[in-house]
Amino acid sequence: MKVFLLVPQLIDLKNLTKNDLTDFLAGIGKERFRAGQIMRWIYPRGVCDFAAMTDLSKELRNELVARAFVSDWTPEHVAVSSDGTRKYLFRLADGETIETVRIPMLEGRNTLCISTQVGCAMQCSFCLTGAFGLTRNLEVGEIVNQVCAALKDGPIHNIVFMGMGEPLHNLDNVVKAIEILGAVDGFAFGPRKITVSTSGLLPEMAEFGRRVKVNLAVSLNATTDTIRDVLMPVNRRYPLKELMAACRAYPLQPRQYITFEYILIRDVNDSLADAKRLVSLLHEVKAKVNLIPYNEHEGSTFRTPDPAQIEAFQLYLLSRDIVAVRRASKGQDISAACGQLKAKLEKTQS
Ligand code: SAH
Ligand code: SF4
Repeated sequence: MKVFLLVPQLIDLKNLTKNDLTDFLAGIGKERFRAGQIMRWIYPRGVCDFAAMTDLSKELRNELVARAFVSDWTPEHVAVSSDGTRKYLFRLADGETIETVRIPMLEGRNTLCISTQVGCAMQCSFCLTGAFGLTRNLEVGEIVNQVCAALKDGPIHNIVFMGMGEPLHNLDNVVKAIEILGAVDGFAFGPRKITVSTSGLLPEMAEFGRRVKVNLAVSLNATTDTIRDVLMPVNRRYPLKELMAACRAYPLQPRQYITFEYILIRDVNDSLADAKRLVSLLHEVKAKVNLIPYNEHEGSTFRTPDPAQIEAFQLYLLSRDIVAVRRASKGQDISAACGQLKAKLEKTQS
């Protein structure tokens, strides 16, 4: 005889924004203001055990134990690069894996690059994450937990949503995660400390701009529709003209810019004619450009341009008063570079 126990589904409180947590508490007849108190235990103090939340009544703690839990992550693997970059591999409850990268910047500051999906559906031809297709969206708690776990290794000053996945394809969970990261009772990251990067999903981009005020980065990567159609299939749905119009209309604060990421690929998008077209595309857009020399990887036919070509491209933009930064590729010896997340692992497993 089989015995079925009716176990109530426990809620992971890391999936809840402050509003959600307030509603949850109200739903079980508890005081709404306890939400802030509980969040201050979970996030700034990193306490995941209700028993240790000593300023809550015994009765409330028991009630929480019966209905909820707080997930706490430890990476399954950490790879440390010679330049100090750390790549964390996390195994999720269903056995899937994601990666998060902690990048040391100038003056002891650290940037954390986090993932939003297992894989990605956008199929950009240069990107290894794209080659695997989309497995699933990350839950709110799975996005937030990357930050919680990395914080155990020391402070984080900036968070970039540039790991695996297309953040705006998982819009609701990304917005909620940002609310938790920015909440005064959460991690209190200011809106300018968070950057979300998109391949250019336009309806979602407009909605995102209405819902949160963080920095936006757009992966541009080409200056003609012909090339961008090939590199980024999303361009067939939302071509350059529409993309740039959406960028012009994007709500920005007075000294805020949209960052355009431009991967330089040899003989594909790295000519001076491209640099000129880029300048016209950016006309009347509050833009900064990040030039990223293509990261070569096995199985890819694309190549990195010569350093002289990269410099000429950058100098042209600078001569037209466009802020163009060459983004140093960090963590190359541990495959922590953009677009290489997860790929190596999958390869060693197959
Ligand atoms: N999906 C979002 C965010 C994650 S991708 C987006 O596309 O914007 C993060 C960045 O890595 C993107 O700008 C992408 O263009 C870049 N990237 C992907 N593969 C790369 C490679 N092989 N070399 C250099 N940059 C790469
Ligand atoms: Fe997805 Fe971004 Fe890679 Fe394109 S570049 S496949 S959108 S992760």
